[in-house]
Amino acid sequence: SVFIGSSIGSLTEIYASLQKSIGATENLFAILDEPAEPLSPVTAIAPEDALHGNIRFSNVSFSYPGRESLPVLRKISFQVRANQTIALVGPSGAGKSTIVSLLLRLYDTTGGHISFDNKDIHQFPLSALRSQMATVPQDVFLFGGTILENIAYGREDATEEEIIEAAQKANAWEFIERLPLGLNTIVGERGMQLSGGQRQRIAIARAVLKQPRILILDEATSALDAESEKLVQDALNKLMEGRTSIVIAHRLATIRQADKIIVIDKGSIVEEGTHHELVNIDEGLYRNLCEMQFTQ
Ligand code: ATP
Repeated sequence: SVFIGSSIGSLTEIYASLQKSIGATENLFAILDEPAEPLSPVTAIAPEDALHGNIRFSNVSFSYPGRESLPVLRKISFQVRANQTIALVGPSGAGKSTIVSLLLRLYDTTGGHISFDNKDIHQFPLSALRSQMATVPQDVFLFGGTILENIAYGREDATEEEIIEAAQKANAWEFIERLPLGLNTIVGERGMQLSGGQRQRIAIARAVLKQPRILILDEATSALDAESEKLVQDALNKLMEGRTSIVIAHRLATIRQADKIIVIDKGSIVEEGTHHELVNIDEGLYRNLCEMQFTQ
């Protein structure tokens, strides 16, 4: 966001078009490292590139460019079936965000393979892949522009009716409607400052409009105010229905609902199962995290 407010127009544009293709993300530098590939506006997906939502990591290893001596993921294997919800949990620095970055192909694996519906990740055009995924990050960045533009990001063809409907489903409409300029309110650095929960609901509205096959959710670690919290949670629960969801989870409620929990420590999967299975592992990392870390 440091760059966005500056007058370097071209960088702002590059950033805007990148964000458009992958949805909001905090990881600006990861994206700017991405080898240049034309990012076409969202167009119809070729039938062979349409995702069902099955994901498989097979022996995936990874180290960040220039840090080859520091493996961040070590032979990670897991499978997600279409429409399942998977929670990634583990201590800070374990590698959860890195798994998400690989899924979005912000980086390529240094070992092993990622596939969607049994097809290698490299067989999909990057734009097709990313236009079928949406991310709702912990700390949502809104670019300088109207609320309408922020919601329609990546779906410029959306009508105002569709945008309002998306805002309603995201539980964002009630606060937007109360603003004097409504959808035309300018937000971002030079505009109206929205609360964390409000910004998150804008990101959810953006995702609702995008109707992704795969939803990536980075749960907030810090609690939002109670009302916002519930509105965000309800909107997310609706959004997750009928699509594959990968959640970097910090809330016990989310984790309990997940079809599968993958516990990561120092770049390896150390436990995998449902909440019920994992809390019963004596001295288990998950059980430990439950006692120490997760928000009730
Ligand atoms: P947290 O819960 O704190 O977000 P995490 O489990 O998501 O942690 P990652 O962000 O994936 O962990 O980080 C895994 C490791 O990779 C850490 O040691 C981190 O320092 C390193 N790392 C993350 N991003 C980069 C990057 N862009 N360049 C180099 N190293 C990185």
